[in-house]
Amino acid sequence: MPKFGIHAMVWVGDWSAASAERAIAGAAAAGYDFIEIPLLDPDRIDIAHTRSLLGEHGIGARVSLGLAPDCDVSSTDRATVERGRALLMKALSATTGVGGDFLGGVIYSALKKYTAPAGKGNYDSAVGVIRELAQEARKGGVTLGMEAVNRYETNLLNTGADTLRFLDAVGEDNVVVHLDTFHMNIEEADFAASIRQCGDRLGYFHVNENHRGYLGTGVLPHAAIFRALVAAGYEGPIGFEAFSSAVGSEMLSGMVASWRDLWSDSDAIAGHALGFMRREYESAWDAVS
Ligand code: MN
Repeated sequence: MPKFGIHAMVWVGDWSAASAERAIAGAAAAGYDFIEIPLLDPDRIDIAHTRSLLGEHGIGARVSLGLAPDCDVSSTDRATVERGRALLMKALSATTGVGGDFLGGVIYSALKKYTAPAGKGNYDSAVGVIRELAQEARKGGVTLGMEAVNRYETNLLNTGADTLRFLDAVGEDNVVVHLDTFHMNIEEADFAASIRQCGDRLGYFHVNENHRGYLGTGVLPHAAIFRALVAAGYEGPIGFEAFSSAVGSEMLSGMVASWRDLWSDSDAIAGHALGFMRREYESAWDAVS
């Protein structure tokens, strides 16, 4: 069985002490191996507190974030890129601080709807910052994940193929492809082909339903997706995401455009998702082997 994790926004919309306790306790009680912490403001995380909670509950942590427009490392404005670079360095330090070994998400551009394609200057700027971040990350044993997201959330990496090209340009082996079924559903021609193409450079995988509610209640072909992961020999971590307007903060909900009340019982959807993913993974093993 791979390591299964869950995004903290299933429970909370910020990372106050109380929110950290609720999310970490919830993830551990549901049986997850790790929690994904959305680290939007590295200055406001109590690192020692989070680390001790993780230890107390016996689960790991992965850290993710989406850059704000004023910290866009794909910008051609030097001051904006510098703010983004500084924020990512702080996020990296917070990642190792809490005992995490992974920092990912939309850390190569802003998470926003762009109104023009990325130019060479944008691409080169992002490549330069991620390369520098990767070199720093290696010292702390941290892997960086570039999450390919849909066209409304970045103009730089929308597909696995985009992300492979970006990794080649960065040229650091602790940078991996991070795929997400919600985004793949919008951008990829074929789930399985994309997973196969990413191969051993796939380092993290997000499972969402297409509407980001309960797994199995939407249109995504989860059985085929899990079979593709197993067939590709993917043994990395798998993280579950779900977003509902009933949970979270205005800022985080706004970033992921979570406007609808799709579910409200955090513990229930967390438990359901873990059972669902385990069953799909086991069935995939039986089908592939
Ligand atoms: Mn995701």
